[in-house]
Amino acid sequence: MGVTHAAPTTTQGKAMIKPNIMILATGGTIAGSIDSNIKTTGYTAGVVGIDVLINAVPEIKNLANIKGEQIANIDSADMSDEIWLTLTQKINTLLSSKEVDGIVITHGTDTMEETAFFLHLTIKSDKPVVLTGAMRPSTAMSADGPKNLYNAVALASSPLAKGKGVMVAMNDKIQSARFVSKTHALNVETFKSLNAGDMGYILDGIIYFNYIPNYPHTQKSIFDANNLKSLPKVDILYSYANDGSDIAAQALFNGNTKGIVVAGTGAGSIHKNQKDTLKQLMKKGLIVVQSSRVGTGIVLASEADSKLGFIGAKDLNPQKARVLLMLALTKSNNPTEIAKIFQQY
Ligand code: ASP
Repeated sequence: MGVTHAAPTTTQGKAMIKPNIMILATGGTIAGSIDSNIKTTGYTAGVVGIDVLINAVPEIKNLANIKGEQIANIDSADMSDEIWLTLTQKINTLLSSKEVDGIVITHGTDTMEETAFFLHLTIKSDKPVVLTGAMRPSTAMSADGPKNLYNAVALASSPLAKGKGVMVAMNDKIQSARFVSKTHALNVETFKSLNAGDMGYILDGIIYFNYIPNYPHTQKSIFDANNLKSLPKVDILYSYANDGSDIAAQALFNGNTKGIVVAGTGAGSIHKNQKDTLKQLMKKGLIVVQSSRVGTGIVLASEADSKLGFIGAKDLNPQKARVLLMLALTKSNNPTEIAKIFQQY
């Protein structure tokens, strides 16, 4: 059992000083709405505003002094580099102030793992940053958003959450941004860290940690997005039997793609036609990272593939390997240097 921390309400009858938590809202199902409380599909994500979300859970004001800001109100399928850069730059500014002790981000679940990993690698503070969302819209019977928001604020308010990188609080569990992935299209039990296990859990506002992720993040990460206005273009190619995506690879490269992550079969294997195309494109400067469509396990580029310059994504799934490759390309275009980054992160 890991260490625990009770949410700051009172101690020995005296009111504790409450932390200042900023909630940044970006949309998603937690802010979704439909005209029937039975329906959990077919709703519109990203319609309810931050004030409505905060007022739906007045109990969070017992945990912290709460302020909210609407950054976007979108379905997270539409998440963009612009919003990622806005978020990380805003969070870095907020957390450099003594007035802010922690951040909660409300976010759609579809791309939450990607935003979380991007922030994990670009936020320069040890103060807690927690993403949360919901699988059921705010109008649904038994909506999961309010409890998730309560848990996220409890986690962001906890001194134990400091220095642990960006976290996701969903369905009473804590997941590290490094490992977490959405694993079920509809069920509330969807966020899992399949290669690592749950980082912790939250019960009645009390935080329990199982482990601390050991890859570099936040202040120890080399990546700095504070002055970036755009990110290098990286795309994902999916591998399959009788693969014809070598044509897609050509088209992507012609469209200014600097790197490609291949969602390879099994332990990252790539169809021979696609491999030949990628070899040609690498001669023109394309960086190729091999991940897997499987969802768990580790991809190490084989000896033959690493001789070609392909880079193994280790346990990063394709969408997370894409985030790391985008950031790696802000540091270097050299495949050997980028391979070192993939070893470390
Ligand atoms: N499509 C929604 C989104 O990611 C799904 C959700 O939030 O659960 O914005």
